[in-house]
Amino acid sequence: MPASALHRQLMSWLLLPLLLLARLAWAGPVIDAASVTHQPLTLTSYVSVLEDPTRALTLADVQAPQQQARFKADQPPGSSLAMGFTRSAFWLRLTVSNTRDAPLQRLLVVENPRISHVQANIPQADGTYRTIDTGSDVAQSSKVYPNRNFVFPLNLPAHSEQVIYLRVESSIGLLVPLQLWPVKAFSTYERDDYTGKAWYFGIAVAMILFNLMLLLALRDPIYLLYVIFVSCTAGALAIKNGLAPDWTILGEPLNSNVIYYSGVSLALAALLQFARRMMQFDRILPRLDWVLRGMILLYLLSLVAYAVALPYVSRVGILLNFATAVILLTGAGVAAFKRQRSAFFFLAAFALLMLGGAMTSLRALGIVPTNMFTVDGLQLGSAMEMIVLAFALADRFNVMRREKARVQEELIQTQQQLVENLRTSEHELELRVAERTDELRELNTRLQAMSMTDGLTGIANRRRFDQVLEQEWSHARRSGEPLALAVMDVDWFKRYNDHYGHPAGDTCLREIARALAGSAHRATDLVARYGGEEFVLLAPMTDLAGIRGMAHKLLEAVEALALHHELSPLGRVSVSIGIAASVSGQESSAQALVERADAALYEAKKQGRNQVAG
Ligand code: GH3
Ligand code: MG
Ligand code: MG
Repeated sequence: MPASALHRQLMSWLLLPLLLLARLAWAGPVIDAASVTHQPLTLTSYVSVLEDPTRALTLADVQAPQQQARFKADQPPGSSLAMGFTRSAFWLRLTVSNTRDAPLQRLLVVENPRISHVQANIPQADGTYRTIDTGSDVAQSSKVYPNRNFVFPLNLPAHSEQVIYLRVESSIGLLVPLQLWPVKAFSTYERDDYTGKAWYFGIAVAMILFNLMLLLALRDPIYLLYVIFVSCTAGALAIKNGLAPDWTILGEPLNSNVIYYSGVSLALAALLQFARRMMQFDRILPRLDWVLRGMILLYLLSLVAYAVALPYVSRVGILLNFATAVILLTGAGVAAFKRQRSAFFFLAAFALLMLGGAMTSLRALGIVPTNMFTVDGLQLGSAMEMIVLAFALADRFNVMRREKARVQEELIQTQQQLVENLRTSEHELELRVAERTDELRELNTRLQAMSMTDGLTGIANRRRFDQVLEQEWSHARRSGEPLALAVMDVDWFKRYNDHYGHPAGDTCLREIARALAGSAHRATDLVARYGGEEFVLLAPMTDLAGIRGMAHKLLEAVEALALHHELSPLGRVSVSIGIAASVSGQESSAQALVERADAALYEAKKQGRNQVAG
């Protein structure tokens, strides 16, 4: 063994100048690990690259001289090697030296957790290579250093130089940011890095839980869409950052690019559905709404496509995601132009997301400085987007509440109007009823008057007389005042009728009635037609002498009419009058008074007519 060691030592002395020459010819510059003490060193310009389209070359193959000659140095400067969407594998060669007298430890960091396969070949003390196979598409436990990125510890003996070979291959775009870190500085960086991520996922989890509670409380499916969107976004970002736990889905590691792309698809499908509902595209932009439905379907189909052939469709997937951003932004712009409130929130949310994305890109290009905001710009943008969209939900709730209040107010007003109308119509009805009642009352009065009036003569009739007689009779009894009655009968009236005709008889009766009524002056006196050619005069507060005087006046009034009656011995119409008066207690009833007056009338007839008897 010492012999072989000596032999190797001799060989290295002999070969050293040769190797130096060779390195000048095809190797990149040597990385001086001793100079990397506080800050990381970006290795892009130190790397020599060999493309392997067959993906079949082994470490031994690339170490062979003809492959060594194919390594290309002078990579374009930048923070990372960008190979783009390629199916090739790439071998990266790095030469690291330790010029110090003491051994050194440094960390080789591939700061992109999304490379499907990363193979590190690191020289050991015995000159052999230790091969570490890791990558996003294999279990996290394959990592030798448990970080979200791919980290390989390098042990550099004093005064040594090592050639390290990395092999990278990916099913999606291949970007290799390579750095050499001092161990302590990397620990600090790790702490800050995880703190930044924790902030983001803390916000995401809070938004998810809060909106889940709103979903339970308000039962509005829009909150479920939001929760799905945020969960898928946060999940996809966790995978993107290499933070997924070591689980598998259908045999696929959770950390793999297939699951990452599927997560992005689900997040965007949920976002599209959320946007459709929030901005009411089916109402305001129905054609765009159909496009969005188609895109949601495409995203669901993309899950199958990614599972089956991610390396062939990953570039199409990126284009689809880009198209979604453009279409959704355009839709939100048009909706905002149409004064759709939610659209303003969407525009603000996307603006923040894109600003965050732009920050990350600008940092990668070295245009803006590296700090907490630019490194995690995309995450920051995504968190802002989540918060602004939650604001949009709150605003929507507010708008709906206001709308509800407005409808309620309208309902109350309509109800009040209804009650008012009802009251008015009720009042109108009351007025009409009152009117009708008045009319009826008047009609009633007229009917009553008619029923109390004699049709032929227009003076009170028998019914009226009976009524008044009854009243005056009871009044007289109560007051003790006298009540007098005169009963008149036209003399020889049958003859009159027979001679002059019935119509002339009627006229005669009317004349007599007028004369009789005109002779009764007192308001309480009542002249009535008792029936046929008989009349009565009822005189309250009148005694027999009083009624006799009145009866004579009546007689004279008829005489004054001077109505011709050829068949009467007098040659004119005359009447016979029977009178009677009652003093309190004298008669048992009003009827008795009438009978007495009747009897008196009979006497007057018997004694020759045209006279007063009683
Ligand atoms: P006396 O002197 O005895 O009373 O003789 P008189 O003819 O008047 O006798 P009587 O009472 O028998 O006749 C009454 C007549 O009056 C009979 C009827 O034709 C007539 N008369 C009754 N009512 C009316 C009426 O409304 N119009 C007319 N034109 N005649 C009537
Ligand atoms: Mg008679
Ligand atoms: Mg008569």
